[in-house]
Amino acid sequence: MSELHKFLFEGLPVRGMLVRLTDAWVDLLRRREASGGYPVPVRELLGEMAAAGVLMQSSIKFNGALVLQISGDGPVRLAVAEVQPDLALRATATVVAEVAAGARLEALVNTGGQGRCAIILDPLDRQPGQQPYQGVVPLHGDQREPLQRLSEVLEHYMLQSEQLDTRLVLAADDRVAAGLLIQRMPVEGVGNLGAARNEDEIGLNEDFNRIAHLAATLTREELLTLDADTVLRRLFWEESVRRFEPQSGDTGPRFACRCSRERVAGMLQGLGREEIDGLIAERGSAEVACEFCGAQYRFDAVDIGEVFTPPRDQPPAPMSVQ
Ligand SMILES: [Zn+2]
Repeated sequence: MSELHKFLFEGLPVRGMLVRLTDAWVDLLRRREASGGYPVPVRELLGEMAAAGVLMQSSIKFNGALVLQISGDGPVRLAVAEVQPDLALRATATVVAEVAAGARLEALVNTGGQGRCAIILDPLDRQPGQQPYQGVVPLHGDQREPLQRLSEVLEHYMLQSEQLDTRLVLAADDRVAAGLLIQRMPVEGVGNLGAARNEDEIGLNEDFNRIAHLAATLTREELLTLDADTVLRRLFWEESVRRFEPQSGDTGPRFACRCSRERVAGMLQGLGREEIDGLIAERGSAEVACEFCGAQYRFDAVDIGEVFTPPRDQPPAPMSVQ
């Protein structure tokens, strides 16, 4: 079963999380098999995005969906992973051209240097007209060098937007999508006043640096094949780690789609009446498949008439005439 493990380093301003998506990840991939599935490098990228999404959703206190969205100019046009506050997640990618075996981030989404990664925070109680919060991180480093790992891109984001020193290790194959996050906790309150100022400055905390360095020694193979207990013991056996109750099942990460007929109708409205009427004339109906879960929604001419009738133009409810 998919799991999220949270832990603290006793007495140190450092916390960590380890996520292993197993059934949720297999479920997500299986739904895509009908349309051919994903090439291996795309599967790895999407799995890393899903794992990272869970870790970021759990480390940023926010009541809404966290969406990682990579818009690419390579063979992958779009890759999206969305994680709700209750850890329900979904993810999808749009592949428009052949993907070379072993392709990494640059070859997948940044061949022309125009790829970008957006982190979108969409409040659950968002009012009509209100835009979600969006932070954009480039897919290149300080020297304009293209980044090859999603983890580096997201570490930049956490540092720049959340002021959080973060180390991420991510990996995915066709059975597991997993990630380890180590983060320096913002030091607050009275305890901080007496501390040497530099201690709390980004990149200068020795405890964080030591633990982050240990985390970075975790190999892809270990992350994908070892259970959480073994990973944490191997990496941090010299540290004092306090574990919390793991989250799994109904409170853990799991696949769930939020698509509905109403949402699809809204999307069709956005395309415009003319385009949809053309489709109906040609095929008799408009069929829309959800990119995330594969659900099919069919709209015939009558349905479309209803979709495009504004409420005020609908026949009034019968009224008694005096
Ligand atoms: Zn769906």
